[in-house]
This record gives sequence, structure tokens and C-alpha cells, in this order.
Amino acid sequence: MDAGGIAMKLGSCLTAVAMVAALGGCAPQSQRPAIESEAVKAEELEQKKLVIKTMLDQRDLLYRISYRLAKAGADLCGDQITWSLGFLTLGREDGAETDHPTLAALFPDLGNNPIVSYIPPDSVAAAAGLRKGDEVILVGEGGVEPNRYLAANIGLRLTTTDNNPVKLKIRRNGTPLDIAVTPARSCNYPAGITSESVVNAFADGRGVYIAKGMMDFVRTDEELALVTGHELAHNFRKHRDAKQGNAVAGQVAGTILDILVAVAGVNTGGAFGKAGAQLAGNANSVEFEGEADYAGLYVMARAGYAIDDAPTFWRRMGANNPNAISHATTHPATAERFVALNAAIKEIKTKQQSGAPLVPNEKPKEAAPQPLPGEPPLGVTP
Ligand SMILES: [Zn+2]
Repeated sequence: MDAGGIAMKLGSCLTAVAMVAALGGCAPQSQRPAIESEAVKAEELEQKKLVIKTMLDQRDLLYRISYRLAKAGADLCGDQITWSLGFLTLGREDGAETDHPTLAALFPDLGNNPIVSYIPPDSVAAAAGLRKGDEVILVGEGGVEPNRYLAANIGLRLTTTDNNPVKLKIRRNGTPLDIAVTPARSCNYPAGITSESVVNAFADGRGVYIAKGMMDFVRTDEELALVTGHELAHNFRKHRDAKQGNAVAGQVAGTILDILVAVAGVNTGGAFGKAGAQLAGNANSVEFEGEADYAGLYVMARAGYAIDDAPTFWRRMGANNPNAISHATTHPATAERFVALNAAIKEIKTKQQSGAPLVPNEKPKEAAPQPLPGEPPLGVTP
């Protein structure tokens, strides 16, 4: 068939399609097994359940890491302190963005009261004897803040304002029980997961936000602790305030701070993209990132995580973003981050061996300028 013939054939096919495919000659010709629409509906529910299960698994993983880091880093967080009860709940009505019919199908026993849905093994709630599945009837007598778990998540995390034990009324297998939890002193920078698929994370001076893409990317607790510790450090080193001070008034007001891999040419989209555009060219960005890597590693070490393999995370990030290996933008290049982290590990290990406190080193305060010999003291005109 020549080109004209093909065009004619195509033309007649298209006409046929336009005429509601009366001929059927353009449709696929395989005879496939018939499927039941009921089976498709059932599978739809299974896949929706998997969305919620994944969301809960990632929420629990991030809480396990961030709880431990926030507790171990409390001494570095200045006056940004909260008292954590160390567990997460799940309720029938949880989360505005939650698919409630699927949640009900996944947890048919979920009643009016929330249940204890996750307890990190090293948490104060675990130590007090709270168990997963306990129905929470009443928490404390005031002062306890039920904080909606951050962005795109379901459930509550509970904090209080001081170290007084908090009485919980719970029901376990139908039996009412009283449990007192002594809260843990922690950094008041809660962590949550955002729905973006980009491999990224950020801090805004109040919290730590890990994109779903990063949750999917990390392979170990240590990798997530590295990322979370980095963002925590941005917060407690007050980088957002410093950046706003550096910028032309109003230029970065209200922006999200961090972009882990703000590499030229990578379209991160959404909030990350906007923040990247606004932060590009911002003074001291690379230094702030280096400091967040450095101070974040200290938090990780304080929390008792193995830090030896931490730099390999930057190898994996480099492999994931080849442009970032040697090209620094608002962030140091991944090769530099790898080498800098190795140097920080050496410093931390020396302190661990000598029993010195695990606190990041500070630059010596600049001494007041001294007049050179033979020069008059500053401010005095001869
Ligand atoms: Zn950063």
C-alpha cells in the first residue's frame, strides 16, 4: 500500500471511529477472557486499602525516627521544647484527606474512640505499658494538646507542656485501665509527610516535612534519620530567620526553607519548585546546608544511630541526580557533602571515644579588633 492508500485507510478508520466504531475493524482483535465488574470493584477497594496501609506504615516509620531524634536533640533546641507522650492514634474520622469508607473497610472494629495505632519501642508510652490497639477513652485533665499529625497524614500525636505524668483512661479487650505516661522532653519540631513524589524534604522553622518520594527512596532507619536530622538542624539553628534576615525584606517571607536537591534542571514542581526559585541565589545557602548536614549528624549520633554509613546516602542521591554530583546551586554538591560528612564522623567519633559532649563545634567569637602597634586606638582622631 502506498502512502496515499495508507492515508485513505487511516481516514476511513478515523471516520469509522467517529461513527461509533460500527465496523470494529480498528479495535484490537484479541479475544481476551471476560472479566466481572464486581471483581474490578473488589480490586479497587484492595488497592485503596493499600494506599492507607502505606500511608500508615510511612507515618509510623517517620514517627519512630523523629521521636528518637527530637528526644536526643532536646538540649540543642533551646526554648523550642515540648513534652511528648510517645504514641500515635488512629480514629474513624481521622484526617480530612483520608478516604473514610476505605479506612472503615480496613479497620472495621474502629469505634468512636481513637485507638493507639503506633508506639515506638523506645518510647515513654511503651515504658508505661501502653499497647497498640488500646482504645483511648480520656487523656489527662487538661494541658494535653491533641496535635493533628502533619500534612497528608492520619491520626494524632499527643504532647503536653511539662514533665507531669499524664493519666490515660483506656480500654483493652473490653477492660478499662488507667495508665500514667511520663512525657519525654523533646524538640518542638514535629515531622510529617507531604504527598509530593519528589525525593526531597524541607523545614519551615516550625516542623520537618518529608516528601512521600523521599519516604519511598530511603532504605534504612539511618538514612531517614540523616534526612530528618538535617531538617531538624535547619530549625534549631534558626536558618529560616537567618535567611529572612539576609534577604531583601519580604522576598522570602513565608517560603518553605529547604530543598535537599535543588539542582538546576530538576523540576521539583509544586511547593518545592516555588521555594527553590525563591531561594536560588540566596546568600549563604550552601553554608546553611553544610551546617544542617553537620549539626544533623550530631543529633543522629546523640540518638544512638550508627553514623558510619551516613555519607553513602549522598552517593545514592548523587546517582539519583547526576547533575548534583559536582554542581552546587543553593546546596553543596553531593560529592562535597559525602566528603564533609566523613570529616564530621571523624570529629564525632573522637568525642565519643573521649567522652566529650556531643555538641556541634562553634566558631570562636570574633575578638574585638585590636589597634596595630604604632596606630592610634580606633575611633580616636589624632
Ligand atoms: Zn537543607
